[in-house]
Parts: sequence; C-alpha cells; structure tokens
Amino acid sequence: MNKIRYFDHAATTAVKEEVLKEMLPYFNIEYGNASSIYDIGRKSKRAIDEARSKVAHAINCNPKEIYFTGCGSESDNLAIKGIAYVNKEKGNHIITSKIEHPAVLNTCRTLQNEGFNITYLNVDENGLINLQELENSITKDTILISIMFANNEIGTIEPIKEIGEIAKKHKVLFHTDSVQAIGNVRIDVNRMNIDLLSMSAHKFYGPKGVGALYIRNGVNCCKLQDGGHQEKNLRAGTENVAGIVGLGKAIEIAYQNFDEYNNKLINLRDYYISKVEEKIPYIKLNGHKTKRLPGNSNISFRYVDGESLLLNLDSKGICASTGSACSTGSVDPSHVLLAIGLEDELARGSLRVTFGDENTKEDVDYLIRSLIEIVQNLRNMSPEYLEITK
Ligand code: PLP
Repeated sequence: MNKIRYFDHAATTAVKEEVLKEMLPYFNIEYGNASSIYDIGRKSKRAIDEARSKVAHAINCNPKEIYFTGCGSESDNLAIKGIAYVNKEKGNHIITSKIEHPAVLNTCRTLQNEGFNITYLNVDENGLINLQELENSITKDTILISIMFANNEIGTIEPIKEIGEIAKKHKVLFHTDSVQAIGNVRIDVNRMNIDLLSMSAHKFYGPKGVGALYIRNGVNCCKLQDGGHQEKNLRAGTENVAGIVGLGKAIEIAYQNFDEYNNKLINLRDYYISKVEEKIPYIKLNGHKTKRLPGNSNISFRYVDGESLLLNLDSKGICASTGSACSTGSVDPSHVLLAIGLEDELARGSLRVTFGDENTKEDVDYLIRSLIEIVQNLRNMSPEYLEITK
C-alpha cells in the first residue's frame, strides 16, 4: 500500500491535533446543552461565546455579528435567501458571478424560480470579474451582490475591497463566500465593506459539519428554519458545541501562524508549477498568476482525460482533484473552467492540486515524478497526441 500523499486541501483538511484536543471534552464531559441554565450548560454556552470571539477577531468584527451554522453551504443559503426574502418589497435583483460554488449558484437558481432576477457576471480568462460590468449591472431593484472571495477550483482571488466600495456607493448589500479564503487571505470585513461572509471549518483544519456566517450589525436577514431561538433566533437547532469549539480553535491557529503557513504554501505551489511547466509540454495553468490562493494550482494537460489522471494518481497514493464533476455517468467539464473560456478538451484535462500543512517538498517531488510518467502513458494512448508527435 502506497503512503497517502494528500493534495486536495480545497476539498477538505484533516483536523489539527490541537483543535481535536479542545473539542473532545464537549462530547462526553462538558456535554451540557448550551440553553440549559445549570453548570455544564453554562460551560457549553461559554465555550460557544469564546469561539464566537475568536471568529470575530479573525475577520475584525463584533462577536455579536457571528452566527454558527452547519456548513458553508448553509451559510450561503442563509445569507442569500435570508437577505432576498427580507428585501423582496424593496427589489428583486441579485448580482452574482458565473464561477460561484453550487452553494451560491443553486441558491440563486432557486430564487430565480421564485421570481427573483439574477445577474450572473462573466469573468475574464483569469477568473476575475469586471468591476465596471458589476457597477453597470446595478439597478434600482438590486438588493444584494454575492461574489466569492476566492474560487475553489482555480484559486483566483476577486477584488473584494473594490466590490465592497461599489456596493457601499450604491447602497447594495455585499455577501462574500469566503469558504476557500479563510486562513489563506487576511480578511477585514470593515475595511473591505463586507456585509455578510460565509465560512466553513473543515477547509482550515477544523471539523466538518460546522460553519459560520458574519452579518453586519443592522443588516436584516431572516431565518430559513423554524424551531428554537438559538443563534439569536436566526438558526434553530441545538448548537454543535464541539464543532463550534473546533471552528474557533482552528481559525485562531490559522491567523496566528498566517505568514509562516502562507509562505510555505506559496513555495510548494510555485515549485510544483515551475517543475510541471519545465518537464511536461502541452499544458496550461488556469487561474490568475499572482492573485491566487497560496495553496492552489490548477493545470490543464492537453491530450489527457482528468478522470484517468486522477485514477492513476490514486493508484500511487496521491489525492488530488479534477475540474470535471461526474454526474449520472457522464463527466461534465467544470462551469468555472468553461467560464474562463477553456475549450472543452482542456477543461476535461484539468488537475487541481491544493497544498496544505502536512505537505513536504519530497511529497511534491513524488507528485511531479508520478505526473510525468502518468501523463506520458495516457498521451501514448491518445490518437490526437500520437498524430501531432509522429
Ligand atoms: N463555497 C465554496 C467556495 C466551497 O469551496 C465550498 C466547499 O467546497 C462550499 C461553499 C461549501 O462548503 P461546505 O462543504 O461546508 O458546505
């Protein structure tokens, strides 16, 4: 059995030891319900409040502006639908982009079916939205702009501060899905004029199944789920205390070690990209060269099918991801890669490698050696490749 080399940190990350250690007592020792008034209940409530403060500190807001949820998708749903329903008398227009995660895109599609009018902004060949196109799209009916902080497939970081300025100038609310950005980019919701921001613990070495939503004080957002009065009546359901504690600890560590972690990832990423560019012909780096997440690489290999590449890498113990989503037996090229203008073949031959804490240069060398071999083997079976190299 090959040693596992994990290069899929944009999909999820392993819970850090320190995070797990903080979480454990809340499963079976401090297991009180945070709504109960006796001691172990109060302890749970205190632990949740501490985590809330840690999240608030990381993005420079007041702890009262943080609401815990069940995941990043839930935070996106709550932000977008919650704002849409509250403001529907004011206007029915929402602006988003074509490269959002399905948690945003499908939420917008649902609202579209309910009568909301949605503008899906184009992106350029690097995945950046056009600020002028954004401003021109705003109408008197626009109630919300929802643009992701950083893209999960190609890693491109959007001009968030500038979007925030445009939103503020036109008195439109601004939500950003920052699920991929937390821990990888410094975020200040006040400096960036962000009104709502989504995050998910499992992307920054916290547990799965817990997320958070920042809602600026004074912004009215409605609940989507009926039940108890938890999270200031915005999110019914007994709090996932251990998960919330884990999220708090993970975000605290992420910003304590920010520079060291980011430099490490940038070095691994740039080393990997330069080696692939040097050793493998007929490739294309997707996403912006510099405005990209420190740990993200996304490369298309011409004359290679992404799924075959993944399966071959898997047989060598390497975990990575492709831009194709396998649905009902057919492999559709990613909407993100198509939106940046990639032709179908390049979109199907893409490989996302996302670096993280436990990766070493030796792991990356192993990945590069494996890729050189696998890509050549796959190309040797491609009639198009054999034709152009004969
Ligand atoms: N938004 C982005 C940009 C993501 O990358 C993801 C997960 O991959 C999500 C939202 C959904 O987060 P979760 O898995 O916590 O629901």
